[in-house]
Amino acid sequence: MLLARPCDINAQRVQGRIYAGNGGYDDLYYSRIRELVKFAVMDCNGGDDTCFCVSMGTNRTDDYALAMKFSQDGLQVQVVDEEFSSYFEGMPQAEYTHAFVEENELKVTVPDLSDKNIRKALKSHPVWQEYNSRCISCGACTIACSTCTCFTTRDVIYGDNPEVGERRRVSASCQIAGFDQMAGQKEFRSSAAERMRYKVLHKFYDYKARFGEEHMCVGCGRCTRRCPELISISATVNKVSAAVDEIRAALD
Ligand code: SF4
Ligand code: SF4
Repeated sequence: MLLARPCDINAQRVQGRIYAGNGGYDDLYYSRIRELVKFAVMDCNGGDDTCFCVSMGTNRTDDYALAMKFSQDGLQVQVVDEEFSSYFEGMPQAEYTHAFVEENELKVTVPDLSDKNIRKALKSHPVWQEYNSRCISCGACTIACSTCTCFTTRDVIYGDNPEVGERRRVSASCQIAGFDQMAGQKEFRSSAAERMRYKVLHKFYDYKARFGEEHMCVGCGRCTRRCPELISISATVNKVSAAVDEIRAALD
């Protein structure tokens, strides 16, 4: 049982599509754990000034076995999955039904990138340039992200027995220089601005274009909280939306 907020439960659906539904390939290491997990959704009062789940449509979920509300009077639990009823037998009954957040302080406008000409113009738009001086390419935002799934592998060989070792899966970040380096030291995105563009467009365009249902970002705001350079994903996306409006006006 995992205690999670609605955005986190929706993030697991996003991860599930990548790990277990990507081109028909099912990642056994993910799936065998995921099928054991059930969620207890926690009451959320709208989060803090980095949250924008309502803008992303991830403020609601029906994928939970229990709902929980913590207050000064104690804990209230709504049992949705009868499998868990026996744990609460004999406890005082109260009226509690989970209520989802309907508004965040922060609002994000996701850019409409359905026009190929706009996407092409956005690639070289100056909106990305500030990240060459602001972003230090530390990768903290992607490590904190609820929906990032990129990993690499590392082989560990034990010094006392070189015949035995393990292959570990470790997180990788598209924001770190060298992430996309190929043979001959060829890189597709060699500046912080290009890497930021890649991340933002992956979260707010590419994923949905590939899987068709929703954007990859769930608006949890963790990347903003974690960034040592105070780069806000919501401010970045709103700037990109303004740039897209500007491009559209120029093209019309
Ligand atoms: S708000 Fe940031 S951390 Fe959360 S899902 Fe979106 S990109 Fe990832
Ligand atoms: S956490 Fe901030 S500084 Fe680090 S890579 Fe992400 S955006 Fe750049």
